[in-house]
Amino acid sequence: MNKKIIVGLIVFVALGFITYKTSFVRCQASLSFNLEEVLKKGHNVMPVVVIGSGPAGLSSALYSARAGYPTAVIEGQLPGGQLTQTSYVENWPGDKKILGNDLMQGMKDQVAQFNVVFVQDKVEKVDLGQWPYEITLANGNKLYALSIIVATGSTPKTLHVPGEKEYWGKGVTTCATCDAPFYKGRKVVVVGGGDSAAEEALQLSAHASSVEILVRKESMRASKAMQDHIAKIPSISISYNKEIKEISGDGQHVKRIQLYDNKTGELTTKEIDGVFLAIGHDPNTKLFKDQLAMQETGYLVMDGRSQRTSKPGVFAAGDVEDHVYRQAGVAAGSGIKAALDTGFFLQSIGVDTDFVKKIESYLYTNKSIESVEIRHVHAKREFDTLLLKHRVVLADFYGTYCPPCKAMLPVFEQLAGEFKGSIEFIKVNTGEARELVMHYQVVRIPTFVVFKDGKEVARRNGIIEKNEMKAWLQEFIK
Ligand code: NDP
Repeated sequence: MNKKIIVGLIVFVALGFITYKTSFVRCQASLSFNLEEVLKKGHNVMPVVVIGSGPAGLSSALYSARAGYPTAVIEGQLPGGQLTQTSYVENWPGDKKILGNDLMQGMKDQVAQFNVVFVQDKVEKVDLGQWPYEITLANGNKLYALSIIVATGSTPKTLHVPGEKEYWGKGVTTCATCDAPFYKGRKVVVVGGGDSAAEEALQLSAHASSVEILVRKESMRASKAMQDHIAKIPSISISYNKEIKEISGDGQHVKRIQLYDNKTGELTTKEIDGVFLAIGHDPNTKLFKDQLAMQETGYLVMDGRSQRTSKPGVFAAGDVEDHVYRQAGVAAGSGIKAALDTGFFLQSIGVDTDFVKKIESYLYTNKSIESVEIRHVHAKREFDTLLLKHRVVLADFYGTYCPPCKAMLPVFEQLAGEFKGSIEFIKVNTGEARELVMHYQVVRIPTFVVFKDGKEVARRNGIIEKNEMKAWLQEFIK
């Protein structure tokens, strides 16, 4: 190799190392861990706050609560995490075959035995510039954490092509578990070449007439087991070197895609009914920008083989810090390591059994927010009667198997309490109320439809933050 190139490479690697070290050290602003400060707070204190409720978050809560540290889990927008969106899991040690949802429910039940406080909300802000660390929830409540375990996971990536935003929820989606049943007898494509794409294709093949996997390279990176699995299903086909350049439709639903063959340079139009994206994930680390050391890609940087971040008392586990293995078992293992590291930290600053007893009355308790029981409607006639009776009606079209629907349930129930008297909230189970689903052309769940004076005036899909939904609904009661 040319001498200049070698010198250049050495300088490049050295600079990279210095930048990494600098960012790690820069984020280690000095803090004093004075337990008197905890006593001064007097309320909403928690020795361990876990942010996230996937395998990493729940495993860490299991270990820290069992070790005697009062622990809160802030469940986030998708309680149970991404596993709740897959169907069967066959590689969780100890279970031959288990539904992702059942696996996560079992984990939550196990953790709940140890008096963990589950908070059905999302974190709005984390201030690591003061200790105890201040965590602000979307509902405005504040928690003062002696230690934090970041297990916020990752979010599915999108393509960023024309039409994707416009048809989001109208044929473009990332959740086959939720939406596959709406594609009975239809033609769909799955974008991606990993295990998720294979998994989505398998789920879709039970409903759709044809499933074409679009892979941008010449091969799939999915495991051999998954590739063997899909090869046995006649309705699944794989097209290589294909990229979607545009998604279009009739304004209501996706109808076609423009496909580019990156080998031949050919551009073709393909008629399809649905686009399922499975192209990987981005780590959810926005809350910690400029507060914790992270890689350029956003993944949190761990200190050696530990789960320590660049801030003492803040730990991380799971997909938020692991871009390599990304398996539920690995996430659970790292969650356990994070809880053990947390224990070492709390011991080092003097948080022992006596101190925990001292702060018993200061601990954060999950003050229940008033929520109301919501009427379920199945028949169109009953639905029409309600539209005539109430000026504003909000209908939640949901499915019992759909994780985002479950995630939205507490938000929906709480808002029903807040809008009592001005908006009538109703629920429609899409698995049962077929006539209503057909009539209102619901193709994705959850779908929220607002009716005013008997007519549909707006609709939205998917997970919506409580405050955002509240602001949206306020528009209709003016
Ligand atoms: P991966 O990162 O493994 O795969 C993403 C795929 O999407 C790759 O084929 C990638 O292509 C492709 N891709 C990325 N960006 C684009 C784009 N803009 N346009 C088109 N294609 C794109 O993510 P997965 O979500 O599939 O898997 C993540 C982890 O979860 C893995 O470790 C996997 O093993 C695990 N998993 C395991 C399952 C199981 O065991 N049952 C189920 C699901 C996931 P390229 O290859 O060209 O980069």
